[in-house]
Amino acid sequence: MIAELIGAGTLGAAGAFGAYWYLKFRDVLPMESSLRSSQRTLADFTAFTRETMERAFAPEQPEQYGDIAGYYLVKLHKSFQDSSILVFEKEPGQWRLINYLKHFKAEPKLLTSYKWSAFDRCLAEGELLRFDDVRTGDYQAVEELLAVFGVKAALMCTFRPAAGAPERLILFGAESPALFGAAQPYLRFVASQLSSISKVSDKVFSLKKESEQLKSEINAMVKELDVAGSRLIQRARERKALYEVVTKVTAPDQDAQGGCSAILNIVAKMVEADVVANLLFDEAKGELVVSPGSYGIPDADRMLYSIPVSNHASASVRTFLSRKPFITEDAQNDPDVLSRYAKLWEIHSLMIVPISLHGRIIGVMRVGSRRKDFFTPDQLEFLTIIADELAIIIEMVTLYENLSRTADELAQLNRLKDEFLATVSHELKTPLTTIKGFVSVILSGEVGPLNEQQTNFLNVTDQSVNRLTHLISDLLDLSRLNGKVEMEFQKLDLTELVRNSVSSVLLKAKEKNVSLTNETAKNLPQVKADIRWIGQVVDNLLINAIKYAGPGAKVKISGFDKGEVVVISVEDDGPGIPLEEQKMVFEKFYRGKTSASQVPGTGLGLAISKSVVEKHGGKIWLESKTGKGVKFCFALPIAKDQGT
Ligand code: ADP
Repeated sequence: MIAELIGAGTLGAAGAFGAYWYLKFRDVLPMESSLRSSQRTLADFTAFTRETMERAFAPEQPEQYGDIAGYYLVKLHKSFQDSSILVFEKEPGQWRLINYLKHFKAEPKLLTSYKWSAFDRCLAEGELLRFDDVRTGDYQAVEELLAVFGVKAALMCTFRPAAGAPERLILFGAESPALFGAAQPYLRFVASQLSSISKVSDKVFSLKKESEQLKSEINAMVKELDVAGSRLIQRARERKALYEVVTKVTAPDQDAQGGCSAILNIVAKMVEADVVANLLFDEAKGELVVSPGSYGIPDADRMLYSIPVSNHASASVRTFLSRKPFITEDAQNDPDVLSRYAKLWEIHSLMIVPISLHGRIIGVMRVGSRRKDFFTPDQLEFLTIIADELAIIIEMVTLYENLSRTADELAQLNRLKDEFLATVSHELKTPLTTIKGFVSVILSGEVGPLNEQQTNFLNVTDQSVNRLTHLISDLLDLSRLNGKVEMEFQKLDLTELVRNSVSSVLLKAKEKNVSLTNETAKNLPQVKADIRWIGQVVDNLLINAIKYAGPGAKVKISGFDKGEVVVISVEDDGPGIPLEEQKMVFEKFYRGKTSASQVPGTGLGLAISKSVVEKHGGKIWLESKTGKGVKFCFALPIAKDQGT
């Protein structure tokens, strides 16, 4: 029993051993080997993807994309040595071979184009296409692959390189499809890698493009700024030139011609011209005439230059009529220019701009250079601007010229008048003294008795002579004050001077029944004055008050110390002076409307007084309300060194 059991056990063990090895050989070993091989395949694929990804980079130039694609394909080909790899690029209606990896028996011809619809399908479906036997494919084109490249089975997939570039296709060819299972993930991986790299590159390229665009925009802006800057500098230079022009013209000692030539000199300097001339329109002659003060033209030649505005052959006339600036690089050989003058002044380059004033064109400015093709449009623009300003200056100069001529004439007339008055007055004074002397001798009866009528006539004559003498002495005073009168300044006590004046007119006041009071403060500070002239001012104010206030009036003279000045005032309660006359009473020969007919006078007393007070550094004025009298005041500065 035991032996049976042992026998059966031994048999069972041998059977199990056999079964084990049977199963091991039949099932496990193949599984193990396929597992090992698939593990190796996986490891290879992982290594392939890792290595290629490590080397992957986003190309910065589209050309670099070719390098990176080439690297992937080389790697792929290394992994599948027996394969033949071809790369095609899409062209309208066909595909062009651009690269291949394999030593073909007959070298494929690069850049040859093929019309294969299988490629178009691959592109349209975006899928990996597999042709296990190219001869059995639906596509006649695929058969040709065999003929052209000796490819018997093919895998193909498309990818898109950089943006805008045509699509590409990788063809993975083999002798048989046995490799395809392993190769498919490689091919997919390569195609998707190349596509995503192309996407990144697209971004890189577009960013690069954008930055280049920005760069060029910035460059353009910098350039524009540069231009604007140099224009600003040019404008600043022009402003400076204008400023120089204006200062030159408005300089106090500047004569009109000097002003113009100063302007033209500056223009010449600014544009480096050899000749600058203004041609102003002479209405009477109907001609454009060179104005004085031209630059670079001898005066003798200037006289030769005048162009009738009917002469349309002249560029100056055309600019004058059309208001359009003109520029030529060679005036001597330009049919649009009267070359006669260009030759006369030996100029070639020429610019002509209109000069307009208050919208009216008054002439043109001609600027020439001995050099050919010398002036620029910028200079023409500058000239156009300066010409407008020049017009204002020309007007100013002309006005100034007219004004100074008138002022000179007036001054001359005034001098003549003063001289005449002085001479006449002087010449009249002597005979008048004689007349007055003889009239008083006759009136005294020394030379015989007079009847009543004769006495009356002689009295009238005597009064007239008095008036004439008065007028003449006023005229002489005035002419002296207008000339270089010598004042004898000395320290003066005005209290005393006023007292003396009051005494001298007291009799006259009594005759006119006018009461006269003196309220001048005692111990007024001293002033520096000419006693004769200031005495005359006080006399004059007192006499006026007595004359104009009329009988029964009250006249008061006062004097005050006002700190810096002493003020003397003469006040009456007469008819006063109407407001509209108050400003004029200090003018020479002015006589009030009512007083002129009623009271004798010359109209010179207050003018003389004003001149005298002002020559003492003082002021004279009046305060008056019609019907309430008038108060004349004058102030003289007190002497700095009192009492010595
Ligand atoms: P004249 O007295 O010779 O006319 P004045 O120059 O002294 O010349 O005076 C100018 C004018 O001022 C007088 O004609 C007169 O109309 C006016 N005038 C001057 N003083 C007085 C005054 N006290 N009251 C009114 N009018 C006066």
